[in-house]
Amino acid sequence: MYHRTETKPIQVGNIQVGGNDQVVIQSMTTTKTHDVKATVAEIKRLEEAGCQIVRVACPDMRAAEAIPYIKKEISIPLVADIHFDYKLALKAIEGGIDKIRINPGNIGRREKVEAVVKAAKAKGIPIRIGVNAGSLEKRILDKYGYPTADGMVESALYHIGILEELDFHDIIVSLKASDVRLAIEAYEKAAQAFSYPLHLGITESGTLFSGTVKSAAGLGAILSKGIGSTARISLSADPVEEVKVARELLKTFGLAANAATLISCPTCGRIEIDLISIANEVEEYISNIKAPLKVSVLGCAVNGPGEAKEADIGIAGARGEGLLFRHGKIIRKIPEAQMVEELKKEIDKLAEEHIQK
Ligand code: SF4
Repeated sequence: MYHRTETKPIQVGNIQVGGNDQVVIQSMTTTKTHDVKATVAEIKRLEEAGCQIVRVACPDMRAAEAIPYIKKEISIPLVADIHFDYKLALKAIEGGIDKIRINPGNIGRREKVEAVVKAAKAKGIPIRIGVNAGSLEKRILDKYGYPTADGMVESALYHIGILEELDFHDIIVSLKASDVRLAIEAYEKAAQAFSYPLHLGITESGTLFSGTVKSAAGLGAILSKGIGSTARISLSADPVEEVKVARELLKTFGLAANAATLISCPTCGRIEIDLISIANEVEEYISNIKAPLKVSVLGCAVNGPGEAKEADIGIAGARGEGLLFRHGKIIRKIPEAQMVEELKKEIDKLAEEHIQK
């Protein structure tokens, strides 16, 4: 089976993408990039939610010129999203950008491509090639008739070839499609075709609810095959939601080393406590815990602790009280009114122990 550690390690600011078993969480701002204040405020919210690399659109010179001012205020690596215009790429690189997303085959004349590659090389910053099923080169569409996985990989190899010919190898590649099955196939084929790290995404996936399901289905299938070194969930929603979904998805595959997971039961006729509101409160609380804890919240003591044996800590409802348990073993009883507060204290203690390890 393919494994993401087989990829070439690429440095994006202080974050390594590829060459290890991590999947770095990315998102993209929705503000006008030239509005430095609004962009920085949004990046700070993303960072707090767990975003590790952030991308800004760079559609004009005002946006490119804002980059050094944004960089000064943030601590995660910044990526500029550029289409076609090499001058914007040069300005972003000059302004201290940590990575640019541009397709070399779309820049135009050879001297322009060379200028961008030379500047990126001088600053040691990588280039992400962004293949999109919706904007494949005409000759590839003519060859295949419609967007196919083979066509997408061919497009990626075309852009990679231009960079490699200029002896540039700090490359990350994405092959996004809105069609989940097409994206899965394209990423699988790309993972076999080259060893540059893959940036995962299902593009134009939809709103918070439908886009989350679609992205989880697509990215889940790809991640489960050991493919993907960085991911962005694209949602028609506050980008903080993209980061939350990405974190949750990575936790599912044990790929988020610094996040706690909630296990909660679906409830049934045996329920003894107000489980849904408790589960929501505990989930909110653990979103700030930076340790790989499994916390369980269960509706009753009949099956509860047994159902959550793998949890590090948890509570199960009993009549008028909660049973606190660790690894499936009950350690004490707590009156219902203090149950959640006591659980939070235990979570803090365990998180502290993990961090000190
Ligand atoms: Fe039902 Fe108890 Fe299982 Fe929850 S833990 S689903 S309440 S049996």
